[in-house]
Amino acid sequence: MASRESAIAEALAIFDTGQFQARLAELVSIPSTSQDPAYAADVDRYLEEAMRPWLERMGFTVEIYANSHPAGGPILVATRMEDSRSETILTYGHGDTVRGLDEQWREGLSPWALKPEGDLWYGRGSADNKGQHAINLMALEAVLAQRQGRLGYNVKMLLEMSEERGSLGLREFVAAHRELLAADVLLASDGPRVAPETPTIATGTRGTYHFDLAVSLRPGAVHSGHWGGLIADPALILAQALATICDRKGRILVRDWLPPGGVPASVKQVLQGCVVGGGDEIAPDPDWGEPGLTAAEKIYGWNGFIVLAMTSGRPENPVNAVAGEARAHCQIRYVVDVPPETFVPALRKHLDAAGFPEVAIEKPGVRLAASRTDPANPWVQFAAASMEKSLGQKVQVIPNASGGLPGDIFMDYLSVPLVWVPHSYNGCKQHGPDEHLLAPIAREGFAAFAGLWWDLGEGNTPAAR
Ligand SMILES: [Zn+2]
Repeated sequence: MASRESAIAEALAIFDTGQFQARLAELVSIPSTSQDPAYAADVDRYLEEAMRPWLERMGFTVEIYANSHPAGGPILVATRMEDSRSETILTYGHGDTVRGLDEQWREGLSPWALKPEGDLWYGRGSADNKGQHAINLMALEAVLAQRQGRLGYNVKMLLEMSEERGSLGLREFVAAHRELLAADVLLASDGPRVAPETPTIATGTRGTYHFDLAVSLRPGAVHSGHWGGLIADPALILAQALATICDRKGRILVRDWLPPGGVPASVKQVLQGCVVGGGDEIAPDPDWGEPGLTAAEKIYGWNGFIVLAMTSGRPENPVNAVAGEARAHCQIRYVVDVPPETFVPALRKHLDAAGFPEVAIEKPGVRLAASRTDPANPWVQFAAASMEKSLGQKVQVIPNASGGLPGDIFMDYLSVPLVWVPHSYNGCKQHGPDEHLLAPIAREGFAAFAGLWWDLGEGNTPAAR
Protein backbone atom coordinates (compact mmCIF):
# COMPACT_ATOMS: atom_id res chain seq x y z
CA MET A 1 0.00 0.00 0.00
CA ALA A 2 1.47 3.30 -1.02
CA SER A 3 1.67 5.88 1.75
CA ARG A 4 3.53 9.03 2.72
CA GLU A 5 5.99 6.82 4.61
CA SER A 6 6.57 4.50 1.66
CA ALA A 7 7.13 7.49 -0.65
CA ILE A 8 9.76 8.90 1.70
CA ALA A 9 11.34 5.45 2.05
CA GLU A 10 11.50 5.11 -1.73
CA ALA A 11 13.09 8.56 -2.06
CA LEU A 12 15.68 7.78 0.62
CA ALA A 13 16.45 4.50 -1.17
CA ILE A 14 17.31 6.50 -4.30
CA PHE A 15 19.87 8.34 -2.22
CA ASP A 16 21.12 5.36 -0.21
CA THR A 17 21.62 3.02 -3.18
CA GLY A 18 23.83 5.52 -4.99
CA GLN A 19 21.39 6.38 -7.78
CA PHE A 20 21.42 10.05 -6.87
CA GLN A 21 25.20 10.17 -6.71
CA ALA A 22 25.42 8.55 -10.16
CA ARG A 23 22.92 11.00 -11.64
CA LEU A 24 24.69 13.97 -10.07
CA ALA A 25 28.01 12.72 -11.47
CA GLU A 26 26.47 12.76 -14.98
CA LEU A 27 25.17 16.30 -14.50
CA VAL A 28 28.45 17.61 -13.09
CA SER A 29 30.39 16.03 -15.97
CA ILE A 30 28.75 18.49 -18.38
CA PRO A 31 30.86 21.67 -18.06
CA SER A 32 27.87 23.97 -18.46
CA THR A 33 29.38 27.22 -17.29
CA SER A 34 27.64 30.30 -18.62
CA GLN A 35 30.58 32.53 -17.77
CA ASP A 36 32.81 31.37 -20.63
CA PRO A 37 31.41 31.43 -24.18
CA ALA A 38 33.69 28.53 -25.14
CA TYR A 39 31.27 26.23 -23.27
CA ALA A 40 28.07 27.31 -25.07
CA ALA A 41 27.61 23.84 -26.60
CA ASP A 42 27.73 22.27 -23.12
CA VAL A 43 25.16 24.76 -21.86
CA ASP A 44 22.81 23.58 -24.64
CA ARG A 45 23.71 19.94 -24.01
CA TYR A 46 22.70 20.16 -20.36
CA LEU A 47 19.11 20.86 -21.35
CA GLU A 48 18.90 18.73 -24.51
CA GLU A 49 20.74 15.63 -23.31
CA ALA A 50 20.59 15.62 -19.52
CA MET A 51 17.23 17.22 -18.74
CA ARG A 52 14.86 16.77 -21.70
CA PRO A 53 14.85 12.94 -21.85
CA TRP A 54 14.68 12.67 -18.07
CA LEU A 55 11.70 15.02 -17.78
CA GLU A 56 9.94 13.35 -20.71
CA ARG A 57 10.29 9.97 -19.00
CA MET A 58 8.49 11.52 -16.02
CA GLY A 59 5.59 12.57 -18.23
CA PHE A 60 6.53 16.21 -18.77
CA THR A 61 6.05 17.98 -22.09
CA VAL A 62 9.34 19.77 -22.70
CA GLU A 63 10.02 22.86 -24.76
CA ILE A 64 13.40 24.60 -25.02
CA TYR A 65 13.33 28.29 -25.97
CA ALA A 66 16.04 30.52 -27.31
CA ASN A 67 16.81 33.49 -25.05
CA SER A 68 15.68 36.89 -26.31
CA HIS A 69 18.87 38.35 -24.81
CA PRO A 70 21.68 37.84 -27.33
CA ALA A 71 24.11 36.71 -24.61
CA GLY A 72 21.60 34.58 -22.69
CA GLY A 73 21.40 30.78 -22.74
CA PRO A 74 18.34 28.66 -23.60
CA ILE A 75 15.39 28.32 -21.23
CA LEU A 76 13.60 25.01 -20.70
CA VAL A 77 9.96 24.81 -19.69
CA ALA A 78 8.52 21.43 -18.79
CA THR A 79 4.83 21.00 -18.02
CA ARG A 80 3.09 18.01 -16.53
CA MET A 81 -0.63 18.75 -16.61
CA GLU A 82 -3.01 16.23 -15.07
CA ASP A 83 -6.08 18.41 -14.73
CA SER A 84 -6.25 22.13 -15.39
CA ARG A 85 -8.64 22.48 -12.43
CA SER A 86 -6.06 21.15 -9.98
CA GLU A 87 -3.38 23.28 -8.38
CA THR A 88 -0.15 23.84 -10.25
CA ILE A 89 3.28 23.85 -8.68
CA LEU A 90 6.02 25.77 -10.45
CA THR A 91 9.56 24.71 -9.76
CA TYR A 92 12.77 26.37 -10.89
CA GLY A 93 16.43 25.58 -11.24
CA HIS A 94 19.50 26.65 -13.14
CA GLY A 95 21.76 24.28 -15.01
CA ASP A 96 24.52 26.78 -15.66
CA THR A 97 27.43 27.19 -13.29
CA VAL A 98 30.14 29.73 -12.63
CA ARG A 99 33.53 29.11 -14.25
CA GLY A 100 35.32 25.89 -13.41
CA LEU A 101 38.48 27.66 -12.08
CA ASP A 102 40.14 24.28 -12.80
CA GLU A 103 43.66 25.14 -11.65
CA GLN A 104 42.54 26.45 -8.26
CA TRP A 105 40.92 23.27 -6.94
CA ARG A 106 42.69 21.28 -4.27
CA GLU A 107 45.03 18.49 -5.42
CA GLY A 108 43.02 15.47 -6.53
CA LEU A 109 39.85 17.46 -7.26
CA SER A 110 38.58 18.86 -10.52
CA PRO A 111 35.41 20.84 -11.21
CA TRP A 112 33.85 18.58 -13.84
CA ALA A 113 34.25 15.19 -12.12
CA LEU A 114 32.13 14.51 -9.04
CA LYS A 115 34.36 13.24 -6.26
CA PRO A 116 32.74 12.18 -2.98
CA GLU A 117 35.03 12.33 0.06
CA GLY A 118 32.95 11.17 3.01
CA ASP A 119 30.03 13.58 3.37
CA LEU A 120 31.51 16.17 1.02
CA TRP A 121 30.75 15.56 -2.66
CA TYR A 122 33.03 17.82 -4.68
CA GLY A 123 32.18 19.15 -8.13
CA ARG A 124 31.15 22.37 -9.87
CA GLY A 125 27.38 22.71 -9.69
CA SER A 126 27.05 19.96 -7.07
CA ALA A 127 25.46 22.53 -4.73
CA ASP A 128 24.73 25.42 -7.11
CA ASN A 129 22.36 24.31 -8.57
CA LYS A 130 22.51 20.89 -10.26
CA GLY A 131 22.39 18.86 -7.05
CA GLN A 132 19.48 20.90 -5.74
CA HIS A 133 17.12 20.55 -8.70
CA ALA A 134 18.17 16.90 -9.16
CA ILE A 135 17.11 16.13 -5.56
CA ASN A 136 13.68 17.64 -6.15
CA LEU A 137 13.17 15.79 -9.43
CA MET A 138 14.31 12.43 -8.09
CA ALA A 139 12.05 12.82 -5.06
CA LEU A 140 9.23 13.55 -7.49
CA GLU A 141 10.08 10.33 -9.35
CA ALA A 142 9.76 8.40 -6.09
CA VAL A 143 6.31 9.90 -5.42
CA LEU A 144 5.22 9.28 -9.01
CA ALA A 145 6.17 5.62 -8.64
CA GLN A 146 4.22 5.35 -5.38
CA ARG A 147 1.22 7.16 -6.85
CA GLN A 148 1.35 5.05 -10.01
CA GLY A 149 1.94 8.00 -12.25
CA ARG A 150 -0.86 10.17 -10.92
CA LEU A 151 0.10 13.03 -8.60
CA GLY A 152 -3.26 14.74 -8.25
CA TYR A 153 -1.84 18.13 -9.28
CA ASN A 154 0.15 19.75 -12.07
CA VAL A 155 3.87 20.51 -12.11
CA LYS A 156 5.74 23.00 -14.26
CA MET A 157 9.48 23.45 -14.29
CA LEU A 158 11.57 26.33 -15.57
CA LEU A 159 15.29 25.69 -15.97
CA GLU A 160 17.45 28.60 -17.03
CA MET A 161 21.08 28.58 -18.16
CA SER A 162 22.06 32.20 -17.42
CA GLU A 163 21.57 32.51 -13.67
CA GLU A 164 25.27 32.99 -13.05
CA ARG A 165 25.16 35.96 -15.40
CA GLY A 166 22.28 37.64 -13.59
CA SER A 167 19.46 35.61 -15.19
CA LEU A 168 19.82 37.31 -18.57
CA GLY A 169 16.50 37.45 -20.42
CA LEU A 170 14.54 35.70 -17.68
CA ARG A 171 12.33 38.68 -16.84
CA GLU A 172 11.38 39.15 -20.50
CA PHE A 173 10.77 35.42 -20.90
CA VAL A 174 8.48 35.11 -17.89
CA ALA A 175 6.62 38.31 -18.86
CA ALA A 176 6.01 36.88 -22.34
CA HIS A 177 4.91 33.43 -21.10
CA ARG A 178 2.62 34.19 -18.19
CA GLU A 179 -0.02 31.70 -19.26
CA LEU A 180 2.43 28.91 -19.93
CA LEU A 181 4.00 29.40 -16.49
CA ALA A 182 0.84 30.21 -14.52
CA ALA A 183 0.92 28.46 -11.15
CA ASP A 184 -0.29 28.61 -7.55
CA VAL A 185 3.10 28.60 -5.87
CA LEU A 186 6.82 28.56 -6.63
CA LEU A 187 8.51 25.67 -4.82
CA ALA A 188 12.20 25.46 -5.64
CA SER A 189 15.67 25.04 -4.20
CA ASP A 190 18.87 27.05 -4.31
CA GLY A 191 21.31 28.56 -1.87
CA PRO A 192 22.24 27.60 1.70
CA ARG A 193 20.32 26.72 4.83
CA VAL A 194 20.79 29.20 7.69
CA ALA A 195 23.01 26.53 9.29
CA PRO A 196 23.92 23.02 8.08
CA GLU A 197 21.73 21.24 10.63
CA THR A 198 18.72 23.56 10.28
CA PRO A 199 16.10 22.85 7.59
CA THR A 200 15.22 26.21 6.09
CA ILE A 201 12.56 27.89 3.99
CA ALA A 202 13.37 31.29 2.49
CA THR A 203 10.40 33.30 1.28
CA GLY A 204 12.31 35.83 -0.78
CA THR A 205 15.69 37.42 -1.32
CA ARG A 206 17.41 40.65 -0.42
CA GLY A 207 18.06 42.88 -3.39
CA THR A 208 21.34 44.40 -4.53
CA TYR A 209 21.78 48.08 -5.36
CA HIS A 210 25.07 49.33 -6.76
CA PHE A 211 26.65 52.74 -7.23
CA ASP A 212 30.05 54.39 -7.46
CA LEU A 213 31.18 57.22 -5.23
CA ALA A 214 33.66 59.33 -7.19
CA VAL A 215 35.79 62.31 -6.25
CA SER A 216 37.30 63.69 -9.46
CA LEU A 217 39.25 66.86 -8.78
CA ARG A 218 41.58 67.20 -11.76
CA PRO A 219 42.38 65.34 -14.96
CA GLY A 220 45.61 63.71 -13.78
CA ALA A 221 47.94 63.21 -10.84
CA VAL A 222 50.43 65.93 -9.80
CA HIS A 223 53.80 65.77 -8.04
CA SER A 224 53.33 65.01 -4.32
CA GLY A 225 56.40 67.03 -3.31
CA HIS A 226 55.37 70.21 -5.12
CA TRP A 227 51.64 69.90 -4.48
CA GLY A 228 51.00 67.57 -1.56
CA GLY A 229 49.55 69.59 1.30
CA LEU A 230 48.62 72.45 -1.04
CA ILE A 231 45.79 70.87 -2.99
CA ALA A 232 42.89 68.64 -2.02
CA ASP A 233 43.48 64.90 -2.02
CA PRO A 234 40.52 62.96 -3.50
CA ALA A 235 41.32 59.79 -1.55
CA LEU A 236 41.14 61.59 1.80
CA ILE A 237 37.89 63.30 0.84
CA LEU A 238 36.37 60.00 -0.29
CA ALA A 239 37.47 58.20 2.87
CA GLN A 240 35.89 60.90 5.03
CA ALA A 241 32.69 60.88 2.99
CA LEU A 242 32.48 57.09 3.46
CA ALA A 243 33.01 57.58 7.17
CA THR A 244 29.81 59.65 7.27
CA ILE A 245 27.85 56.77 5.65
CA CYS A 246 28.82 54.12 8.21
CA ASP A 247 30.38 54.55 11.62
CA ARG A 248 33.45 52.77 12.97
CA LYS A 249 31.29 49.74 13.85
CA GLY A 250 29.47 49.41 10.56
CA ARG A 251 26.24 51.08 11.66
CA ILE A 252 24.56 52.82 8.73
CA LEU A 253 24.25 56.56 9.37
CA VAL A 254 22.10 57.34 6.30
CA ARG A 255 19.00 56.51 8.32
CA ASP A 256 16.64 57.05 5.36
CA TRP A 257 18.17 53.91 3.81
CA LEU A 258 16.73 51.74 6.57
CA PRO A 259 13.31 50.17 7.17
CA PRO A 260 11.35 53.10 8.62
CA GLY A 261 9.70 51.22 11.48
CA GLY A 262 12.71 49.02 12.20
CA VAL A 263 12.57 45.28 11.51
CA PRO A 264 8.86 44.47 10.90
CA ALA A 265 7.20 42.53 13.71
CA SER A 266 6.36 39.55 11.45
CA VAL A 267 10.02 39.32 10.41
CA LYS A 268 11.26 39.63 13.99
CA GLN A 269 8.88 36.88 14.97
CA VAL A 270 10.03 34.27 12.40
CA LEU A 271 13.68 35.11 13.10
CA GLN A 272 13.37 34.48 16.82
CA GLY A 273 16.08 31.99 17.78
CA CYS A 274 17.37 31.79 14.19
CA VAL A 275 21.03 30.77 14.08
CA VAL A 276 23.40 32.21 11.47
CA GLY A 277 26.34 30.57 9.73
CA GLY A 278 27.98 27.38 10.86
CA GLY A 279 30.02 25.14 8.61
CA ASP A 280 32.05 28.10 7.47
CA GLU A 281 35.49 29.28 8.56
CA ILE A 282 34.28 32.75 9.49
CA ALA A 283 31.90 33.90 12.21
CA PRO A 284 29.94 37.16 12.58
CA ASP A 285 31.73 40.00 14.40
CA PRO A 286 29.46 40.52 17.41
CA ASP A 287 29.84 44.32 17.47
CA TRP A 288 29.53 44.98 13.72
CA GLY A 289 26.40 46.48 12.20
CA GLU A 290 23.19 47.85 13.68
CA PRO A 291 23.27 47.74 17.50
CA GLY A 292 20.36 45.93 19.10
CA LEU A 293 19.71 43.56 16.20
CA THR A 294 20.49 39.85 16.30
CA ALA A 295 22.82 38.44 13.65
CA ALA A 296 19.81 36.93 11.85
CA GLU A 297 17.97 40.28 11.88
CA LYS A 298 21.07 42.00 10.47
CA ILE A 299 21.25 39.81 7.37
CA TYR A 300 17.62 38.77 6.86
CA GLY A 301 15.72 41.79 8.13
CA TRP A 302 17.93 44.82 7.57
CA ASN A 303 19.99 46.55 4.91
CA GLY A 304 23.76 46.27 4.62
CA PHE A 305 26.25 48.71 3.10
CA ILE A 306 29.39 47.21 1.59
CA VAL A 307 32.35 48.83 -0.18
CA LEU A 308 33.11 46.24 -2.86
CA ALA A 309 36.25 47.96 -4.16
CA MET A 310 37.99 51.31 -3.97
CA THR A 311 40.96 52.94 -5.65
CA SER A 312 43.02 56.09 -5.86
CA GLY A 313 46.19 56.13 -7.90
CA ARG A 314 47.56 52.66 -8.61
CA PRO A 315 47.94 50.63 -5.41
CA GLU A 316 49.97 48.00 -7.30
CA ASN A 317 52.42 50.62 -8.55
CA PRO A 318 52.33 53.82 -6.44
CA VAL A 319 54.09 56.95 -7.69
CA ASN A 320 54.93 60.18 -5.86
CA ALA A 321 51.77 62.01 -6.81
CA VAL A 322 48.50 63.39 -5.49
CA ALA A 323 45.91 61.39 -7.44
CA GLY A 324 43.35 63.25 -9.53
CA GLU A 325 40.51 60.90 -8.67
CA ALA A 326 39.34 58.42 -6.07
CA ARG A 327 36.52 55.97 -6.54
CA ALA A 328 34.61 53.44 -4.44
CA HIS A 329 32.26 50.84 -5.86
CA CYS A 330 29.51 50.39 -3.29
CA GLN A 331 26.63 48.02 -2.72
CA ILE A 332 23.49 48.08 -0.61
CA ARG A 333 21.90 44.70 0.15
CA TYR A 334 18.31 45.71 0.80
CA VAL A 335 15.06 44.25 2.02
CA VAL A 336 11.64 44.96 0.50
CA ASP A 337 10.79 47.43 3.27
CA VAL A 338 12.75 50.25 1.61
CA PRO A 339 12.11 51.35 -2.02
CA PRO A 340 15.48 51.35 -3.82
CA GLU A 341 14.67 54.51 -5.80
CA THR A 342 15.03 56.45 -2.55
CA PHE A 343 18.66 55.42 -1.99
CA VAL A 344 20.35 58.01 -4.20
CA PRO A 345 18.22 61.04 -3.16
CA ALA A 346 18.75 60.13 0.50
CA LEU A 347 22.50 59.76 0.01
CA ARG A 348 22.78 63.02 -1.95
CA LYS A 349 20.98 64.88 0.81
CA HIS A 350 23.18 63.21 3.41
CA LEU A 351 26.49 63.97 1.63
CA ASP A 352 25.52 67.58 0.98
CA ALA A 353 24.52 68.08 4.60
CA ALA A 354 27.81 66.51 5.72
CA GLY A 355 29.78 68.94 3.53
CA PHE A 356 30.69 66.66 0.62
CA PRO A 357 29.04 68.19 -2.47
CA GLU A 358 32.10 67.20 -4.53
CA VAL A 359 31.46 63.49 -3.95
CA ALA A 360 29.50 62.29 -7.01
CA ILE A 361 27.12 59.32 -7.05
CA GLU A 362 27.57 57.55 -10.37
CA LYS A 363 26.07 54.56 -12.20
CA PRO A 364 23.40 53.80 -9.57
CA GLY A 365 20.89 51.01 -10.05
CA VAL A 366 19.26 47.80 -8.90
CA ARG A 367 21.09 44.65 -9.99
CA LEU A 368 18.78 42.15 -8.31
CA ALA A 369 15.44 43.26 -6.98
CA ALA A 370 14.39 42.35 -3.46
CA SER A 371 11.43 40.03 -2.99
CA ARG A 372 9.46 38.68 -0.05
CA THR A 373 6.42 36.55 0.47
CA ASP A 374 4.89 37.07 3.90
CA PRO A 375 6.30 34.27 6.08
CA ALA A 376 2.72 33.77 7.35
CA ASN A 377 1.51 32.92 3.81
CA PRO A 378 -0.52 29.65 3.88
CA TRP A 379 1.75 28.03 1.26
CA VAL A 380 4.80 28.75 3.42
CA GLN A 381 3.02 27.31 6.44
CA PHE A 382 1.93 24.28 4.41
CA ALA A 383 5.48 23.58 3.26
CA ALA A 384 6.98 24.13 6.72
CA ALA A 385 4.46 21.79 8.36
CA SER A 386 5.07 19.12 5.71
CA MET A 387 8.84 19.33 6.12
CA GLU A 388 8.63 19.25 9.91
CA LYS A 389 6.57 16.06 9.65
CA SER A 390 9.07 14.44 7.27
CA LEU A 391 12.23 15.49 9.09
CA GLY A 392 11.02 15.49 12.70
CA GLN A 393 12.68 18.87 13.17
CA LYS A 394 11.69 22.51 13.35
CA VAL A 395 12.02 24.37 10.05
CA GLN A 396 13.53 27.85 10.17
CA VAL A 397 11.58 30.25 7.96
CA ILE A 398 13.52 33.33 6.86
CA PRO A 399 11.92 36.30 5.07
CA ASN A 400 14.64 36.38 2.46
CA ALA A 401 17.67 34.36 1.49
CA SER A 402 21.04 36.02 2.07
CA GLY A 403 22.14 35.67 -1.58
CA GLY A 404 20.40 36.59 -4.84
CA LEU A 405 17.69 34.62 -6.63
CA PRO A 406 15.28 35.75 -9.36
CA GLY A 407 12.16 35.29 -7.21
CA ASP A 408 11.01 38.88 -7.81
CA ILE A 409 10.37 37.98 -11.47
CA PHE A 410 8.01 35.15 -10.54
CA MET A 411 6.20 37.38 -8.04
CA ASP A 412 5.91 40.26 -10.51
CA TYR A 413 4.47 38.34 -13.47
CA LEU A 414 2.94 35.18 -11.98
CA SER A 415 1.90 36.50 -8.54
CA VAL A 416 3.08 33.30 -6.89
CA PRO A 417 4.20 33.04 -3.29
CA LEU A 418 7.86 32.04 -2.99
CA VAL A 419 8.89 28.91 -1.12
CA TRP A 420 12.63 28.34 -1.46
CA VAL A 421 13.92 25.21 0.26
CA PRO A 422 17.74 25.27 0.13
CA HIS A 423 19.67 21.98 0.11
CA SER A 424 23.13 23.42 0.76
CA TYR A 425 25.07 25.32 3.45
CA ASN A 426 27.25 28.44 3.73
CA GLY A 427 30.50 26.48 3.65
CA CYS A 428 29.80 24.79 0.29
CA LYS A 429 32.30 27.05 -1.58
CA GLN A 430 29.90 27.70 -4.45
CA HIS A 431 31.44 30.23 -6.87
CA GLY A 432 34.98 29.32 -5.71
CA PRO A 433 37.19 26.26 -6.03
CA ASP A 434 36.24 23.07 -4.10
CA GLU A 435 32.47 23.51 -4.37
CA HIS A 436 30.70 20.59 -2.75
CA LEU A 437 27.33 19.21 -1.75
CA LEU A 438 26.94 18.14 1.87
CA ALA A 439 25.50 14.61 1.67
CA PRO A 440 23.44 14.60 4.92
CA ILE A 441 21.62 17.77 3.82
CA ALA A 442 21.00 16.27 0.37
CA ARG A 443 19.59 13.13 1.98
CA GLU A 444 17.25 15.22 4.13
CA GLY A 445 16.26 17.04 0.95
CA PHE A 446 15.02 13.72 -0.46
CA ALA A 447 12.84 13.11 2.59
CA ALA A 448 11.59 16.70 2.65
CA PHE A 449 10.63 16.78 -1.02
CA ALA A 450 9.13 13.29 -1.10
CA GLY A 451 6.91 14.42 1.79
CA LEU A 452 6.07 17.69 0.03
CA TRP A 453 5.31 16.09 -3.34
CA TRP A 454 3.17 13.54 -1.50
CA ASP A 455 1.27 16.05 0.65
CA LEU A 456 0.50 18.24 -2.37
CA GLY A 457 -1.60 15.37 -3.73
CA GLU A 458 -3.64 14.86 -0.58
CA GLY A 459 -6.29 17.42 -1.46
CA ASN A 460 -5.71 19.93 1.33
CA THR A 461 -3.33 22.50 -0.10
CA PRO A 462 -4.07 26.19 0.50
CA ALA A 463 -5.47 26.34 -3.06
CA ALA A 464 -7.92 23.52 -2.39
CA ARG A 465 -9.22 24.86 0.92
ZN1 LIG B 1 25.39 30.62 -8.08
